[in-house]
Amino acid sequence: MSPRTYLSLFLLVNGAACGLPATEISWPSSLDRSTIRSAADYLQPTVSGKTESATFGMVREDGQRFHEGIDIKPSTRNAAGEPLDLIFSAMDGQVAYLNANANGPYGKYVVLYHPRAEIPAYTLYAHLAKLEPSLKVNDPISRGKVIGLMGHTSAGADAITKDRSHLHFEVGVILSNSFNNWYAAQPENRGSPNLHGLWNGQNLMGMDPLPVLQYTHVNLLEIVRNQQTALTVTMRTPRNPDFVRLYPMLVQGDAAHAAGWYVEFSWQGMPIRWTALDASSPKLPGNRWRVFEVDQSLRKLLVQRKMLAADAKRAGDLLTQNVEILLSGGR
Ligand SMILES: [Zn+2]
Repeated sequence: MSPRTYLSLFLLVNGAACGLPATEISWPSSLDRSTIRSAADYLQPTVSGKTESATFGMVREDGQRFHEGIDIKPSTRNAAGEPLDLIFSAMDGQVAYLNANANGPYGKYVVLYHPRAEIPAYTLYAHLAKLEPSLKVNDPISRGKVIGLMGHTSAGADAITKDRSHLHFEVGVILSNSFNNWYAAQPENRGSPNLHGLWNGQNLMGMDPLPVLQYTHVNLLEIVRNQQTALTVTMRTPRNPDFVRLYPMLVQGDAAHAAGWYVEFSWQGMPIRWTALDASSPKLPGNRWRVFEVDQSLRKLLVQRKMLAADAKRAGDLLTQNVEILLSGGR
């Protein structure tokens, strides 16, 4: 994580980024934002005790493990030590997914989709004790509505103890509407069905939530676009990937006649800018896709994130997976 990102933890501002159209944002837990004086006031660290471990980025296991959101700690607990914080919708949208069983690393979780934001983003609220029972998939939901109760649910290797209860909050974009087909076609997924449909973590690509939660009004598209390009990929495909239709605001050039794409990725793996390539473009790869350029100053981070292989040249496992998901659908 860059020093600048870490400093920004301390600068929660009750205001708006000026000038641009904006989406109204609510803090997603019962914590009163105006009481926040430092990062330790709202972040729940891992067992390491390091505040930074609750932030977004390669903040775990000495920079070897990625954390795709931020962990917000309880502000009140009952006599048994269970959190009493309600969890709220961060912005207007609709209910996309409800997982009431603690059957994966997210535990009980809710995903909301925000089709009327500057870019159709999702927000995700994980490790809940329980979901608000009145929620129904596809129902509209307004900003600040209760969606659940803070908890510590999680299945698998990473059990969360009661004292480390928190809300795991994510914001980002989905990679493909065809994710279910891609998932089913992977040999390693045989015998483990996709329980979460499009809202499976592999199909969700998060970004740092702090630039969103820091303000009461934000332009989500600007936040996506303001991410730095860490590497580029060129793809050859006669079909427009689902992503191009889902996020036309990130696309430039003639999509109707594209023979392929030049795609800029953020360091964590989000495709942030797509440029159509016509059939005569010298950038078109000979095969399906390839890494085209790498920001050498981010090489170490890209290898840790598995965007690049250990040689810092070839594609790593995460980049390969994301590109294959992106190429899996389309028309
Ligand atoms: Zn988390």
